[in-house]
Amino acid sequence: MPVQRIHLPVVDRAPPPPVTAVGAGPLIDRFLRTVRYLRISVTDRCNYRCTYCMPDEIEFRPRAELLTFEELARIAAVFAQGGVERIRLTGGEPTVRADLVDLVAMLARTPGIRELAMTTNGHILADLAAPLRAAGLTELNVSIDTVDADRFREVTRRGDLARVIAGIDAARAAGLGVKLNAVALRGVNDDEIAALCAFAWDRGLVMRFIEHMPMSSGALYAPERELGAAAIREAVTARFGALVPSTAGAAPRGPARYWHLAADPRREVGIISAMTEHFCDACNRVRLSATGDLHACLGHDDAISLRDVLRAGGSDDHIRGAIAASLGAKRAGHEFLSSGAGGPTKHMVAIGG
Ligand code: SAM
Ligand code: SF4
Repeated sequence: MPVQRIHLPVVDRAPPPPVTAVGAGPLIDRFLRTVRYLRISVTDRCNYRCTYCMPDEIEFRPRAELLTFEELARIAAVFAQGGVERIRLTGGEPTVRADLVDLVAMLARTPGIRELAMTTNGHILADLAAPLRAAGLTELNVSIDTVDADRFREVTRRGDLARVIAGIDAARAAGLGVKLNAVALRGVNDDEIAALCAFAWDRGLVMRFIEHMPMSSGALYAPERELGAAAIREAVTARFGALVPSTAGAAPRGPARYWHLAADPRREVGIISAMTEHFCDACNRVRLSATGDLHACLGHDDAISLRDVLRAGGSDDHIRGAIAASLGAKRAGHEFLSSGAGGPTKHMVAIGG
């Protein structure tokens, strides 16, 4: 896969809406979508270099620019007061942030947060799973794009499949709710859709496939590699028989849509189909970068710096004001195109999915 040389951009903040202090209340955007889910990137660094995610040459942000644990806990508390119930930690690779377990313990004490989740590549999970669970983590998504060890190293450029599998098993043993994620790419892992499902189902887990999105100005995206939700479902059906929607009549469980085998409801597959079957009208989330930029939409570069508000001595009402300004400017949806155009300049490795 060709790899582009790009530098992490300074976030496009043009022009941020004015930030004024506002009181507590539910977080509702101008399209009447209620935000209940906050994704926090705790670092822009990663111990892997996945070809579809990370440009070849990147400049990491200086550590002093990262939000401290105290700043993160304060922001999380303000979001929780506004009705956010779920927080997910991501990266880069969240497990490379020093003392992550301490952060999890701090966030787990936030009143109102009923789910504290993390997305990880699993490389150092075997050692961390039990301490993370003890600190209050509840759910874990582990990325595993292939179950072929050589291919795994090729895709991740420095990954180790055996370590990730050991991490998945440690997370299950620790009592964490585990799901597996794979970015679906034609010519990379399209021949492993059934094998990945079998790997997950043998462990009693849900397998989820993510359509590749054109982040990084589309530089890491190739239209011919698009593997859409319909093709993924076909691959599962061809091997295991008919699928039926799991979510029929139920509230959506996030951007993934779930199906299970007609023959066995415990064998479930989820698909996050940002490209071919959009879900923006049900969006309930916002994203905080490691440096404190609040992104109301994954697909656009607009962001407001909560770190600036905090470090200027802002009160909780000022933080609420900045969040309200961000939500007031939240877009109706992304503009990803299958050609690779329409996406943001920001990199997935910096915002965390
Ligand atoms: N390092 C962690 C991991 O890999 O799970 C967390 C951060 S990673 C950016 C979060 C998720 O985004 C992973 O499941 C990854 O496979 C996925 N991802 C990365 N680049 C993507 C892209 N361009 N389109 C869709 N998903 C992507
Ligand atoms: Fe790192 Fe995750 Fe991106 Fe892979 S997908 S480079 S593990 S941040």
